[in-house]
Amino acid sequence: MTITTPTRKLERSVTALAGRVVLPEHPNWDQARLGWNLGVDQQPAAVVFPESAQDVVAAVELARAFELRVAAQGTGHNAAPLGSLADTVLVKTERMRGIEVDPKTRIARIDAGVRTLELVEASAQHGLAPLAGSSPDVGIVGYTLGGGLSWFGRKYGLAASNVHAIELVTADGQLVRVDREHEPDLFWALRGGGGSFGIVTALELQLIPVSDAYAGILWWPIERDREVLHAWADLTRHEPPDELTTVGRYLRLPPLPDIPEPMRGKSFVVVEAIHLGEPAQADELLAPLRALGPVMDTIQRISTPALNRMHMDPEHPVPATGDGMLLQTLPRQAIDEIIHTAGAASSSPLVSLEVRQLGGELARAHPDNGALAAVEADYALYAVGIAPTPEAAAQVTAHIDVVADALDPWTAEQTYLNFAETRRDPHTLWTERAHQRLRRIKATLDSDNLIRSNQPVH
Ligand SMILES: Cc1cc2nc3c(=O)[nH]c(=O)nc-3n(C[C@H](O)[C@H](O)[C@H](O)COP(=O)(O)OP(=O)(O)OC[C@H]3O[C@@H](n4cnc5c(N)ncnc54)[C@H](O)[C@@H]3O)c2cc1C
Repeated sequence: MTITTPTRKLERSVTALAGRVVLPEHPNWDQARLGWNLGVDQQPAAVVFPESAQDVVAAVELARAFELRVAAQGTGHNAAPLGSLADTVLVKTERMRGIEVDPKTRIARIDAGVRTLELVEASAQHGLAPLAGSSPDVGIVGYTLGGGLSWFGRKYGLAASNVHAIELVTADGQLVRVDREHEPDLFWALRGGGGSFGIVTALELQLIPVSDAYAGILWWPIERDREVLHAWADLTRHEPPDELTTVGRYLRLPPLPDIPEPMRGKSFVVVEAIHLGEPAQADELLAPLRALGPVMDTIQRISTPALNRMHMDPEHPVPATGDGMLLQTLPRQAIDEIIHTAGAASSSPLVSLEVRQLGGELARAHPDNGALAAVEADYALYAVGIAPTPEAAAQVTAHIDVVADALDPWTAEQTYLNFAETRRDPHTLWTERAHQRLRRIKATLDSDNLIRSNQPVH
């Protein structure tokens, strides 16, 4: 029998990771440690770029041997709440980009570093779609472990509720595959409980039979905000069908070359609409908004890859400061507060403040859903500003606080992990029962707390 000593393990992992570890003394360190959010100054103990599940095993063994911790990072979109990484090996999965789509079972298998648009495009070739979020380059794994609010969520639920199987490396360096039959507790925890339970190497996701949507944006100059946002909120209060998702949003677009000429450097109030079904139904529901005479109306049938770009989220790293919250309801007074704090007459430094309607299937907690079984609020708000300097970041944060304080009477107790870009009290991320169960699973699986997540369970 061969006994694997810690030294042997370390030698084995160092050899396995040759060429895939970057340390602070290496010339490419400053590039290697960057996350998508350039405003976050990541200073980990080492960065590992695994190319396979076996490399991830080696990275976990390496961290354990040096008494360091491990944090997975798909892109770094939500790097802000991680905190100091001085004692942490950052495992950046960006080289793991394999995708396989099985059109018969409608299941996609993706490696840990796959980004949203890549999966949307691969699925679209078969007339299928994942429950993708708004941004083309958010990582599918981070997005799904946090819940996953898609434009199709009101009809089909959270992305986390549509996961078929997950492969991950646990804190003891084992590569395991979990699904409803195998390790069901861990499978439950991963679906909405975030990244605390292991380094995911692959996900299998159920796709939906959707290849296009009737979707686009109604645009008005920002000065029209009062009538537009009240009309939009009225529409959402009249229980639109689950097929329709709408967003009320302020956009103050910077004068950057990658923003199309008619919008560059200008400020707008917009309503985004995404409808799965007959356009005539959407047209009827949107008629009161169109009656307000938008200066531009881009709503038309578009393919799912085009839909993934509709929201105009940046497709490259940016220095940004953002945060989100859930709103229980959105009465007229709440809209007035949004207008007061972020509207035309305010001094808002926010590039975007959006309110998405939730509800529908997102609010239905089925027994076989995961740790985030449902989102118990009718709206999600997310606000963000460009923050190239600490001073700019402080200004954006202060303004988001002003908005949050004004909306306090309508803020839900629950917060949504993916839109939380500051460290949150875990009691607000999950129901009390789910939170206790997550803590028990974490304690059993990783008693040394080796695996770090941006939003830990305790
Ligand atoms: C512009 C923009 C648009 C967005 N739109 C949406 C949206 O429409 N809907 C929505 O729900 N969210 C949205 N988000 C939020 C987004 O889903 C979260 O920021 C999510 O955490 C990003 O995942 P990531 O892997 O890209 O980020 P990362 O910062 O790389 O990862 C975030 C966390 O995910 C976990 N994680 C990532 N990879 C792994 C892994 N392999 N194993 C274990 N844990 C892992 C870790 O805990 C990590 O700290 C948006 C964010 C931005 C900035």
